[in-house]
Amino acid sequence: MPGARAAPRAYANPKTKTEICAFDARAFGEATEYLLCCSDSILKKESMMRMSKCKAVLGTTLSAFLALALHAAEDKTKEAAAKEAAKPSYEMPQPEKETLDLEMYGKIREEATAHSHIMEYASGLMDGIGPRLTGSENLKKANEWTKEQLTAMGCSNAHLEDWGEFGMGWQQLNTWARMTAPDTAVFIAQAGPWSPATKGAVSGNAVWVEIKDEKDFEKYKGKLAGKVVLWGDMRDVKPVDKPLFTRDDEADLKRIQEYPIHLNEAENFFQTYLKRQEFREKVGKFLAAEQATAVITPSRDGRNNGGSGGTIFDDTGAGFGWLIYQKDHADALPVAVMAIENYGRVYRLLKAGVPVTIEVNIDTKFTGDHEHGFDTIAEIPGTDPKLKDELVMVGGHLDSWASATGATDNGAGTVVAMEVMRILNALKVKPRRTIRVGLWTGEEQGEFGSYGYVKEHFGYVPRSTAPDQMAVTEYDRDPVGPIVLKADQQKLSGYFNVDNGSGKIRGIYLQGNAEAGPIFAQWIEPLKDVGVATITDRDTGGTDHEAFDAVGIPGFQFIQDPLDYGSRTHHSNMDTYERLQPEDLAQAAMVEAIFVYNTAMRDQMLPRKPLPHPELQKESAKPLKGVMPGAEEKN
Ligand SMILES: [Zn+2]
Repeated sequence: MPGARAAPRAYANPKTKTEICAFDARAFGEATEYLLCCSDSILKKESMMRMSKCKAVLGTTLSAFLALALHAAEDKTKEAAAKEAAKPSYEMPQPEKETLDLEMYGKIREEATAHSHIMEYASGLMDGIGPRLTGSENLKKANEWTKEQLTAMGCSNAHLEDWGEFGMGWQQLNTWARMTAPDTAVFIAQAGPWSPATKGAVSGNAVWVEIKDEKDFEKYKGKLAGKVVLWGDMRDVKPVDKPLFTRDDEADLKRIQEYPIHLNEAENFFQTYLKRQEFREKVGKFLAAEQATAVITPSRDGRNNGGSGGTIFDDTGAGFGWLIYQKDHADALPVAVMAIENYGRVYRLLKAGVPVTIEVNIDTKFTGDHEHGFDTIAEIPGTDPKLKDELVMVGGHLDSWASATGATDNGAGTVVAMEVMRILNALKVKPRRTIRVGLWTGEEQGEFGSYGYVKEHFGYVPRSTAPDQMAVTEYDRDPVGPIVLKADQQKLSGYFNVDNGSGKIRGIYLQGNAEAGPIFAQWIEPLKDVGVATITDRDTGGTDHEAFDAVGIPGFQFIQDPLDYGSRTHHSNMDTYERLQPEDLAQAAMVEAIFVYNTAMRDQMLPRKPLPHPELQKESAKPLKGVMPGAEEKN
């Protein structure tokens, strides 16, 4: 509830650590309490000094002592006031009623709709620049272009920040594949990301391999040289009898609102996934050692059977391992992902014993081995002398996969964040706090850009150095804590993210920050007529708000209508400008601009959850001892 603080905060605030024990001089006889109440040895020393001063004073006149006592009381008041003033405002009770600037709501609505420029940004980014794989030349262009656009719309201090070395730069120039025997057929296929090129167009007999674990290598030894290898099970291709494009109805939103109860979840699905990826890397090395010509994998499916009809999903899952962007883990041979219907024909012919010849040309280019990643940052400076050093941030990731132009993942979140900044600039807002936009890169490989930025500016979570985790990059390893904070961690009120496609905003995930609920509920009251009505305590994961949340900063991702994100566009060859819904994007920019504006203008920073303590996680999840009567202690 507003105003109620559930638990004392655990932020490492050097200022609040300094407990100054003030002299209580209500009466002469209480002077000894002054000594007893001081626990800190330095303060004791100080108090001893003051006490001897007191004694000296007592030796002369009582009135002189009273003068000193009065002075000390003044000190106490000042110190207490200073201590209170030094507290970050998120530590203070939150007001029960939010002060909303409805005139500004109206202006933002008008600017976001009647003067929308969001689709111009969308076409510039998706059509003009194109795919934005991390490490690529195109992503560098996108960094520069976003910096220029943010400057042109009126932002200050637009610049790029280097978050560190990433890996190889890569570009797909062309990919085609066709069957030349027993019939001719043109296939839909694209290179897996960071696939090496074939030596021009290459032709070979196709062979389907069933390799599920390392012991399967044996049966293919000496049999794959010069072959085009099909690797991956043929899956069912079910009819698309449900819509690929959907919006959340009342029942869906109610379900999102319900808080799922999961007890003691032990399995770390991401670590399980990484283990599978390690195996894929071994398969790639084996096929290369056997001198296969190229490898073709089938596209996975999407929601409501969307992974068919020309849509292929082309991400890390298409290639040979999680770290294929690093030179040391590079795909060992050319690999393309193919439309399931095309894959199916070859698969069935081979199963029936018919020889199949495939010709394939995977034409790709590497543009550097040690490319760095950059975030685009820009801001609208705060104007309140007391609050301008505080921040609110808005953003999304600028990088994409490479088989299309990454329009919904996450061109959408990028242009929404840009439009938010344009709207606020166009309205010449004078925010009390500084509004800063961050367009992250390396998100698709592990949220590198946002974690890197947060580490540089706000703090970081030390990661596991267990031998079984060292095979992956820092942010892919389990958090072990304790969290290390920088001073500015106390200055960022909140971060807002859009990265769930082109769908309009229907509400917000509180990410477990229950205290923010009543605040946002008031903010969205005037937004119900544009479909924003749902607040859920649930977490949502898989994108850049997590980097902020991990160090105790309120980080939020909005609830968005799903549209065809999960069925057709997410990481697919069909993630193009056409999948963007202009009205949805304009609504998202309007709503996000209002959230950002409110955060910048309210008296206090947004309330925070207690700081996470990953270092205590394992211990607190252990079974209790001595619960079962009569049970003998196990050794
Ligand atoms: Zn994304």
